[in-house]
Amino acid sequence: MATSLRIINGKVYDPANNIDGEVREIFVQDGRIVADAPADARTIDARGMVIMPGGVDIHCHIAGPKVNLARKLQPEDHRHDPHPGTLFTRSGSGGTVPSTFATGYRYATLGYTTAMEAAVTPIGARHTLEELHDTPVIDKGFYVLLGNNIFLQQLLQEGRREEFKQAVAWWVNATKAYTTKLVNPGGDEPWKGKRNANVADIDEKSEVFGISPRNIIDAFTGVVNELGLPHPVHIHCNNLGHSGNVYTTLETMKTAGDRRLHLAHIQFHSYGGEPGKNPKSAAAEIADYVNSHPNISCDVGQVMFGKSTIMTADAPLAYMLRGFKKGKWVNADTECESGCGIVPFSYQEHVYVHALQWAIGLELFLLSRDPWRIILSTDHPNGGSFMSYPKLIRLLMDREFRKEEMKKVNKKAMRSTRLPDLDREYTLNEIAIITRAGPARALGLKHKGQLGPGADADITIYDEQEDKELMFSAPRYVIKSGDLIIADHEFRNDHAGRILHVAPAYDEDIVGTVRTFFENYYSIEFDNYAVSDQYLYDHEVISTT
Ligand SMILES: [Zn+2]
Repeated sequence: MATSLRIINGKVYDPANNIDGEVREIFVQDGRIVADAPADARTIDARGMVIMPGGVDIHCHIAGPKVNLARKLQPEDHRHDPHPGTLFTRSGSGGTVPSTFATGYRYATLGYTTAMEAAVTPIGARHTLEELHDTPVIDKGFYVLLGNNIFLQQLLQEGRREEFKQAVAWWVNATKAYTTKLVNPGGDEPWKGKRNANVADIDEKSEVFGISPRNIIDAFTGVVNELGLPHPVHIHCNNLGHSGNVYTTLETMKTAGDRRLHLAHIQFHSYGGEPGKNPKSAAAEIADYVNSHPNISCDVGQVMFGKSTIMTADAPLAYMLRGFKKGKWVNADTECESGCGIVPFSYQEHVYVHALQWAIGLELFLLSRDPWRIILSTDHPNGGSFMSYPKLIRLLMDREFRKEEMKKVNKKAMRSTRLPDLDREYTLNEIAIITRAGPARALGLKHKGQLGPGADADITIYDEQEDKELMFSAPRYVIKSGDLIIADHEFRNDHAGRILHVAPAYDEDIVGTVRTFFENYYSIEFDNYAVSDQYLYDHEVISTT
């Protein structure tokens, strides 16, 4: 139910509109921010409070077949962390991979109102949309995995560039995705076909297709920009987690030239050292490149100590990691589209590599000169749960707290990074950028991450507190599309949230070409593959330019 609201006396942090902590009034009507509200609008007195746009998570894993597989793999997590219902909200279960209901409500309890699921196979799109529709409060969308798609690689191999572009546009439409995702591009085929092999070099040509990861990255960067998608190709580079992968990451960024590109969880791709040996921090080299190339955006993928669940379309990576943690793991293959791996994990302070990963993420945040392009994420639940965001915010805002935490971790790892010398503390304005305004801009969501007239009325109001972890853990008010969802820290309402997707134009002739391939190799009927328009409800098509 839409509400008219007048929010008075609060300190507003709205970086997209150059408002940095000024006391301003915010008005809401019919789900949008407006210039004024009717005289009978409900008033919220936000004296002593901080007002920000709702948080936007640009990269997380919250819905679809692989997420469900991770839930089924860890029933003990759910038993130990029940999520009770309230008068207004439904119950669920938590752990590092919460149920759909708990995911939406827990994001809301942190003041997040938008989240993007970062890796979905085309064949998993329908399942993902069903779960996203079932994830309350937040608006949401997903990125479709196309970087190991056999048919698309065949088109590239045969130099059929225009058909490749039309096929990418068709696939994005057919799945109702938000953009395309590449994960270890070109790495799945050697893994499937050659006893767990992987590609090691961005210029290594596939024996099957004769094309390299660089060819795939270049082609996708080109077509996604040509199609005018609001968010560029979203890439998980080759060699994730391997010592010396900084070379691959820099070369990936260079491949884009001056075209837009988003690098996912860049912390996992910022390692120096020799392959096969212990990694070293290469955060400074990566930060330098990102600082001087405004076409690049990235999210950090911060590691937080404690339990996590590694879930990835990078099947060779998951296969390698299963050896580090003697426990449950899954590797799976999705027809002609992607691999997948799940490994329950935990990051520990005393382990050199884990402490180094923690430090590299913080170095990247602190060495970055443009907060608009270095976005807060933990690659939930890979580096840690999104529920650890408040602690991460405190690590960035509170130098003394950071120094205390540094004392608890592996000393050798700490000495090998620049973290002990970095005194920077993020301001509230910068936090508003890396959690709201920055991700909204990188996603091309003009109505989000800001509080100007016309914006979606997604608003979070925090009690201003010295302890930033406490402050960001429990907003006093959360407003979603104008509905007052949380007031005085308690749920007062429920909300469905919308699916955000794009619909780029494509040439109908491509459908027959895809159909021929599909009917030869897939296990389901082509006519049951694409998600029909009727399937979507509560959705918004974000325009392509
Ligand atoms: Zn991810």
